[in-house]
Amino acid sequence: MDLARLRNIGIVAHIDAGKTTVTERMLFYTGVERRMGEVHEGTATMDWMEEERERGITISAAATICPWREHKVQILDTPGHVDFTAEVSRSLRVLDGAVVVICGVAGVQAQTETVLRQAARHDLPWLAFVNKMDRQGADFEAALRSLRERTGAQAVPVQLPIGAGAEFGGVIDLVRMLALRWDEAGMGSELHEEAIPAEHLAAAESARAALVEAVAETDEALLEAFVAQEDLDAAELDAGLRRAVRERAIVPVLCGAALRNLGIQPLLDAVVAWLPSPLDRPPVRGWLPADPAQAVVRVPDPAAPLCALLFKVFHDPHGDLGYLRVYSGTLREGQQLHNARLKQVERVQQIYVMHAEHRERVASAGPGSIVVLPALKHARTGDTLFEKGGDIALQPIEFPEPVIRQTVEPLSLGDRDRMLEALRVLDREDPTLHVTFDEDSGQAMLAGMGELHLEVALHRMARDFRVAARAGRPHVAYRETVVADRTAEGHAERPLADGVRQVATVQVRVVPAEATRPELALGAVLAGLAPVLREALGREGGSLLEVGGDLGYPLARMRLELLKVASSPATLEPPPELVMGAAARGLDLALADNTRLLEPIMDLRAEVPEEYLSGVLADLNSRRAEVQDLEIVGTLRVIHARVPLEAMFSYSTDLRSRTQGRGTFTLVPIGYEVVPAARSKAILQGI
Ligand code: GDP
Ligand code: MG
Repeated sequence: MDLARLRNIGIVAHIDAGKTTVTERMLFYTGVERRMGEVHEGTATMDWMEEERERGITISAAATICPWREHKVQILDTPGHVDFTAEVSRSLRVLDGAVVVICGVAGVQAQTETVLRQAARHDLPWLAFVNKMDRQGADFEAALRSLRERTGAQAVPVQLPIGAGAEFGGVIDLVRMLALRWDEAGMGSELHEEAIPAEHLAAAESARAALVEAVAETDEALLEAFVAQEDLDAAELDAGLRRAVRERAIVPVLCGAALRNLGIQPLLDAVVAWLPSPLDRPPVRGWLPADPAQAVVRVPDPAAPLCALLFKVFHDPHGDLGYLRVYSGTLREGQQLHNARLKQVERVQQIYVMHAEHRERVASAGPGSIVVLPALKHARTGDTLFEKGGDIALQPIEFPEPVIRQTVEPLSLGDRDRMLEALRVLDREDPTLHVTFDEDSGQAMLAGMGELHLEVALHRMARDFRVAARAGRPHVAYRETVVADRTAEGHAERPLADGVRQVATVQVRVVPAEATRPELALGAVLAGLAPVLREALGREGGSLLEVGGDLGYPLARMRLELLKVASSPATLEPPPELVMGAAARGLDLALADNTRLLEPIMDLRAEVPEEYLSGVLADLNSRRAEVQDLEIVGTLRVIHARVPLEAMFSYSTDLRSRTQGRGTFTLVPIGYEVVPAARSKAILQGI
C-alpha cells in the first residue's frame, strides 16, 4: 500500500447536516455499495445499529474504506448529537483530515463549532461541504459568512452553486473554470463538464480571483508568481491549495445536495487532492512509559517498531472489538502487543478492516490503517499498544465528564447480575458513560452526557442483553469542590497479637485545582504502598474521590495529596486497607465545611422566529440564563446563552409550545460552576 495514496478522513458536523447521507453517496460512487442507502428509510449502511436505524440518527462512529482514483479513502462517519460527543472526540484523535458538512439553510450550527474547536486542538486540516443546496432557503453566501464568523476559518469557495433551492442544478468548479452537472435520473453517476453559463460567468471570475489571491497569500513563491502573472495556472493553484489546506491556512468550500446526488464526486476529488496522507502529518509524539520525561517520536514507517492507539472498544456478541489506529510499524497476526498502561501482554489473533458492521480479515496492517482486533482482554480505550523494544506511550484521549445521572434497577431480581454485566459492558464501550453500584440498595447509578444518551444505553441493555430495567428520573450530576487549601491527619488502627494495636497515620492535604477530574499526588509514602494506593485512589469505581466529599457528591477541581504515611510500630508496614481507612478519615477532616456545590453549565443556542423572541428571553431569564449575544439570521433570532443544566430539563417541550413548534436549540456542556448559595441550600435540602 502506497501511503501517499491513503486518506483517513472523518465526516463531522451538527446533527442532521447530512453527514451520513454524504457518506452513503461516497460508498455508492466509489462502487463499495451497489444500492444507495437512505437515513430516512432506515437503510443507511453506516447507521447499521438497530438503535440508529429506528431513530434516523448516528450514535456510533462507523468506519469504512473506499477506493477513489487510485487512492484509498478511509472514512469515519460520526454522530452529530452532543450526547454522543465521545465518538467524535476519539474519531478526531485518529484522523488525518475532516470533511465538515454544513447545512445550506442553517449555516454553521453549535455542534459544528464544538467539533471544530476539537479539530483545532489536533491541528486537523479540513474542508467544508455546504450541503442541502436544494432546500428552500438555501443560501451559499450566508453559509460562507457563518463559516467565517463562527469558526474564524479562512474559508474560500472553490465552487459556486448553479442556482439554489428548487433551481439548484450543479456547481461551478473555480479551479478548472467549468460547470459540472449531473444526470439525476441515473443516481447522479454521470457527471457532465460544460462551459460556465453566461449569466454566472462574472460571479465565477471574481470568485476565482479571490481564490487565487487567497492561495497566493499563503506562500511567498506563489505570491511572486501571482504578482508577475496576475494569475496562477491550474497546477500552481492545485499545489498551493494542497499545501495551504494541510497547514490549515485555507479551508476550501464546496457545495452540493447529497440527497439529490449532487456534488459528491468533486468532494471525493477534493479529499484526495488536498487533504493530507499519513505521510503529510507530523510524526506522533509520546514518551517512554518507564520514564515520562523522555520523549519518543514515531514516523509512519512500516519497518519501524509498531505503535498503535486503541481509540474505541465496541461490544459484539462474540466478544469485544478493539478499534486501532496504527501510527508506525506493522501489525501482524500472532504478534505480542505490549500496553503502556499495563503489564499484561496480549496476542493479536485476527486483524479486520471494517466496513460498517461487516469486516474483512487481513493478515497485517501498516501505518495509517484503522483496523479492528477481536478479543483484546485487557486493553481499553485510550491505551497505547506497541511491540517489545519499541516502548511508547501516547497522550490518552480526553473525554468530558458526564453531566446527568439516573438510577437503574432490574425489573426482576433474577436479572440483577445480568444488568450489572450489561452496564459494565456499556461503561467499557463508552468513556462518557459512567456506572457506579451501591451494594446496599442494590441500585446502579448511570451517568452520561444527556437524556438521549442514557435512554439509548437503557434501550441497548434491553435489546442486546435482554435485561428489562426501570430507570429513575434523570438528575443533574452535581459535584463538589474544595474552597481552601487545608491539611489534616487521619488515623486508623487494627489489633495485632498480644493486645498490641497497629496505628496508621496519614497526613492529607486538599488543594483547589483547575481540572474537573480530581488529581492525586503521593508524597513521602512508604514505597511499597505507592502502586496500591494509586490503584485504590484512582478513578475506577468506588474510589475515595468518586464516593463523594462533605456534601455527598463526587469531588472535582481539586487535588488530593497524601503527604505522609506513618505507622506504629514503625517497623511494620501497614496493610493498604489500613492506610486507606486513615486517608479517608483525614480527607473527611480536610473537607469538613470546606466544599461548595458545583453544577454543569451549558452553552445554549436557540433559534426562534422574531415574534417569539421576547417571550423566550423572559423564560430563559427565569432559568438563570446569562445571555451572551443575539444574532440575526434572516427572520430568525439566534440566542446565545450560558445556562445551568438543572434549569433545562424538558426545555424542548417548553420551547416548542412557546414558539408553536418553530424554535430549535442545542445545549453543549461547557464545564462546572459553583452553585449560588441560596440555590445550593435548596438542592441540599432536596427542594
Ligand atoms: P447527519 O445527522 O448529519 O448524519 O444527517 P443525515 O445524513 O442523517 O441527514 C439528515 C436528514 O437530512 C435526512 O433526512 C436526509 O435525508 C436529509 N438530507 C441530507 N442531505 C440532504 C440534501 O442535500 N438535501 C435535502 N433536502 N435533504 C438532505
Ligand atoms: Mg449521521
